[in-house]
Amino acid sequence: MAANHEIPSYLTPHEIGPWGVYLEQIDRVTPHLGNLSRWVETLKRPKRVLIVDVPIERDDGTIAHFEGYRVQHNTSRGPGKGGVRFHQDVTLSEVMALSAWMTVKNAAVNVPYGGAKGGIRVDPKTLSNGELQRMTRRYTSEINIIIGPNKDIPAPDVNTNEKIMAWMMDTYSMNQGSTASGVVTGKPISLGGSLGRHEATGRGVFVVGCEAAAKRGLDIKGARVAVQGFGNVGGIAARLFAEAGAKVVAVQDHVTTVVRESGIDVPALLKYVAETGSVAGFGGAERINDRSEFWSVDCDILIPAALEQQINAANANKIRAKIILEGANGPTTPEADDILHDKGVLIVPDVIANAGGVTVSYFEWVQDFSSFFWTEDEINQRLTRIMREAFTAVWQLAEEKNVSLRTAAFIVACTRVLRAREMRGLYP
Ligand code: GLU
Repeated sequence: MAANHEIPSYLTPHEIGPWGVYLEQIDRVTPHLGNLSRWVETLKRPKRVLIVDVPIERDDGTIAHFEGYRVQHNTSRGPGKGGVRFHQDVTLSEVMALSAWMTVKNAAVNVPYGGAKGGIRVDPKTLSNGELQRMTRRYTSEINIIIGPNKDIPAPDVNTNEKIMAWMMDTYSMNQGSTASGVVTGKPISLGGSLGRHEATGRGVFVVGCEAAAKRGLDIKGARVAVQGFGNVGGIAARLFAEAGAKVVAVQDHVTTVVRESGIDVPALLKYVAETGSVAGFGGAERINDRSEFWSVDCDILIPAALEQQINAANANKIRAKIILEGANGPTTPEADDILHDKGVLIVPDVIANAGGVTVSYFEWVQDFSSFFWTEDEINQRLTRIMREAFTAVWQLAEEKNVSLRTAAFIVACTRVLRAREMRGLYP
């Protein structure tokens, strides 16, 4: 895959990983870009890559070093925007791909941002609260030179949350000498966070899921749903589907897989996970030992809401779902995309399906600038409208051009980005 691409010298070929998946997606959209394809190389190179050393003093007095990244993929349509991920498997290739998917996502739902992403290669579960705070603050200080409310605005992603955003906002503000609430989104409500932001990604998955189900003639009431990842995205999407009458028949998290054909009690599972940290040991469902069996669970809607490249050539054939809603970023490889397309499975791509999070991040940023805060109803209504409109536009284009929803979403988004690029022109 992506064998003939020019790879940046700072990425060795064996590290191409998720960046290679992204390049392949760009190759697939290029023939549809007309004259704008002249600018397509812009999308294949991140604008700016910052690699930082993050040293901290551990509680036991030793010094630990972590590798951190902030990648600004594109800023043609506005400041960089995208989350920060703390995970033991974070790589530069992954952060580059995630930053590029932010560019595409922000353009697909038409929020006025470019794309960026950050991360630290660390398992945050191995850190005390004090160590986590010191690491977050040092990382923020290191990337301080390129972030800012009008430059690049971080947000939560895998293993980061409101508390970490509060530390980031405070560190940046201390360095500036004044409170800059607009430097990050996903903050606690009392520090300029937005109502509805915590739930926004899962809510967006649910909204586009209802649209996709309507197109396929599938009733949400009684629909069987399987979810991989039971955090902020998968857990909330599962709750909203269950509230709408769907049956959540399988949940897989980083520890184990649980199933129940008659439907799992989602509020009970959410409570259990909040207390214990995992679905493992939950009494209200049966456990499956072989993780790979999750993919063959009989369901109507499958929601990958964990990490990248989970659906690949090895398991795509096992999938029985009619609709896949990509709550995660980059969960499906291009090979798996083709296999599923041939099987007639409808995939709502990440850049639409999980765009609810950044959409409400945009609302938060706007509210912070105006210091005027909206009601939760206003936020959810605006979110629902944006998600539905984006889905409908992409659906129509996919029909018109006879391409997948992913290619259609990339056509809409890349056209917007490259048009902006062309109008702005090259400087100097
Ligand atoms: N991390 C989320 C995403 O992947 C949200 C990013 C944001 O709100 O800036 O879309």
